[in-house]
Amino acid sequence: MTAAANLEQIRHHIREACEKSGRNPDDITLIGVTKYVTIERTEEIIQAGVENLGENRLEGFLEKYQHFTDRVNWHFIGTLQSRKVKDVINQIDMLHSLDRNSLAKEINKRVNEQLDCFIQVNVSGEVSKHGLDPEEVVPFVEEMAAYENVRIIGLMTMAPHINDELRLREIFRTLAKLRDEVSSMQLSHAPCAYLSMGMSNDYRIAIEEGATHVRIGSSLTNS
Ligand SMILES: *Cc1c(COP(=O)(O)O)cnc(C)c1O
Repeated sequence: MTAAANLEQIRHHIREACEKSGRNPDDITLIGVTKYVTIERTEEIIQAGVENLGENRLEGFLEKYQHFTDRVNWHFIGTLQSRKVKDVINQIDMLHSLDRNSLAKEINKRVNEQLDCFIQVNVSGEVSKHGLDPEEVVPFVEEMAAYENVRIIGLMTMAPHINDELRLREIFRTLAKLRDEVSSMQLSHAPCAYLSMGMSNDYRIAIEEGATHVRIGSSLTNS
């Protein structure tokens, strides 16, 4: 399928999920994850109308960024090593994978202006997944007050690749509740209004459970 056809189908599913849950599709940001594809396919995706791109590895990000620079907004969604921070941090609009104090400290030092960050949370408890345990999130948010250039705009999670809808809902609801808890603290450095959750396998469910940012790779980029 063309990138435009994939995008049309995804937008249709997003509208459906919004209708089911009484939400406004304008409140959902679609991030096209281009990590599997070439510059040429990424060009098609941008031409089709995707305005936000995400990459999970430094090399992939730099390749795409050097080519497309300010034609889209950039999201870094993968694990970021502290020594690589300086190579990406002033090019991206949002970081979805803040998962440790030492990373925040390095960002704070290297970034030119305040950066919007999601805290990555390992809700499912899978050992393969990065992120804080849910009970670590509130104390971590409090620690972030020390870093004036780090703004906590929301929470992010990756659900396991399963078809168990109830389990997926439970994971997304847990993240949404935690987001509510943090935002109710009314901290100026942590408005925490957003939820980055939902990938190709589960974005419809994630939207029904409150996702504001969905990160979609294969369903968008596959031909
Ligand atoms: C690869 C990736 C995605 C997209 O995955 P798909 O299943 O291909 O949609 C989303 N988020 C993160 C962090 C990823 O690494």
